[in-house]
Amino acid sequence: MNTVPSHPCFLYARKSTDVEDMQVLSIESQLAELREYAARENISIVEELVEKQSAKIPGRPIFNDMMDRIESGEASGIVSWHPDRLARNSVDGGKIIYLVDTGKIGSLKFPQFWFEPTPQGKFMLAMSFGQSKYFVDSLSENTKRGLRQKVRLGIMPGVAPPGYINDPRSKTIVLAKLKAPFIKQAFELFATGTHRIMDIADFLAKHGVISRNGKVWKQHRISYLILTNPFYYGHFRYAGEIHEGKHEPLVAKQLFDQVQEQWKKRSHAWHEELPVKIYTGLFHCGACGMMITAEQKTKFYKGTNRTVTYTYYRCTRKSKEISCRESFIREEELDRQLTNLLQKYALRQDWATAMLKKLELEKQDIAQSTGAYLVTKREAIKFITIKLQRLLDSYLEEDIDRDDYRDRKAKLLSEKKTLEEQISRFQTTHQSWLGPMEQWVKEAAGIAEIARGGDKNAKKVAAQNIFGSDLTLENRLARGSARKPWAALRAAPTSRKMEPRARIGLATPTYQVGVLPLNYLGNVVSNKRICSRSQAVTFMLFACIVQTPYSDFRL
Ligand SMILES: [Zn+2]
Repeated sequence: MNTVPSHPCFLYARKSTDVEDMQVLSIESQLAELREYAARENISIVEELVEKQSAKIPGRPIFNDMMDRIESGEASGIVSWHPDRLARNSVDGGKIIYLVDTGKIGSLKFPQFWFEPTPQGKFMLAMSFGQSKYFVDSLSENTKRGLRQKVRLGIMPGVAPPGYINDPRSKTIVLAKLKAPFIKQAFELFATGTHRIMDIADFLAKHGVISRNGKVWKQHRISYLILTNPFYYGHFRYAGEIHEGKHEPLVAKQLFDQVQEQWKKRSHAWHEELPVKIYTGLFHCGACGMMITAEQKTKFYKGTNRTVTYTYYRCTRKSKEISCRESFIREEELDRQLTNLLQKYALRQDWATAMLKKLELEKQDIAQSTGAYLVTKREAIKFITIKLQRLLDSYLEEDIDRDDYRDRKAKLLSEKKTLEEQISRFQTTHQSWLGPMEQWVKEAAGIAEIARGGDKNAKKVAAQNIFGSDLTLENRLARGSARKPWAALRAAPTSRKMEPRARIGLATPTYQVGVLPLNYLGNVVSNKRICSRSQAVTFMLFACIVQTPYSDFRL
């Protein structure tokens, strides 16, 4: 199928202790993913090379050795997770681009990074090799460092809560003399247990402690920003943790604790609505088959005097046959793995566009070709109607006897019924697959966005869509095999073999004799078998691949 010969490649995996590499897959995972990718794409691997050094400065021994071996012709391609695995500096990046230009490197393949064999593609490659990413990363790192420094000094970054103001001169947070007493009173009122959160909202509104647009505050705003905010007794929340603050407390810890007691009693319903333990019910345990559940644990760090709440996922261990020994996994880690799983099923935007265009063409084609088919069938029905009329005439003229008439009439009516059924079946089968197919292409194209984003609920929904109930967690590894037609997105090239029998090519003009419409597979004459959506996806993917090789930077 692949007309371009495959270049023998080195498989290169790298991870260092650099800050930039913190979010990168472990070496083991890189190797596993790349082996799977190479097998799927039929890439022959000369040798697997592993390096554990930073790529920010030139001088990696294994990388340099690989470059020498490519120059001497031992291999002519590299498979790696991402361009930034190969180089993060302009010297090494330049070397690769030079070997590409001189033809020593014929192919660069990255499963997660898409290149076009265009000048823009080369430019993008040079960009990822260069230092721009490092600068961007270090900029955001500096901002974070600045905020962390502030937190260490006991100053909460961000906007002061009600009753306090940000003092621009000292860059600290100080009491707002007018409003602070009402906030304190609010705590006292609520601690008595005779006031509801709504009453507190009214009280604060009456005394002018209200939000900017002048409305009475919603209950959850009152409880989160004021009644349960540790800022008022001297600590503060930052990045999911509690820190000690240098600001002047407004209420005593004892009063604050009384308020918490009341709040717990009154706000059960609201409390349960918090989107915690989002991934429960999504995974089964790979070892015993039971559901994976979540629990939260709060840790106290004595050295820095702060508490952190973690969400852990674990097997419910309800199996009576197997005593399950599977260990816990942090939500952050599970989220990272789920993101990786989702990314594998993201449909490239340009391919989605091409597929939608293709579907539009199919729609027009179907209208045309079915039009011709329906005309013949309707002509046949009309002909039978005429025959029936003639038959009746012959009978009335007494040219034929009653039995003969009945037999012939029954036969004609049966033929007519068959034709009518053929028409209605034809209409439903030919139109019905287009809508869902279009819907699916759009959905698959949206996966990349969902995977990149921070909306865990969207990730959960997408995962349920793609994997159904087939997600498992074993040895702290999340796995899943996709349902149809999602599985077609990761189908091996061998199963892309059907296309010569169906019409492919993105810009097929109009219906051609002897060429099958996309949704046909099998017998041309009877037009009977219609392919599944998965097969249609495979066809169209192939059509895209013919134009833009999958994840391939080929020159
Ligand atoms: Zn288990």
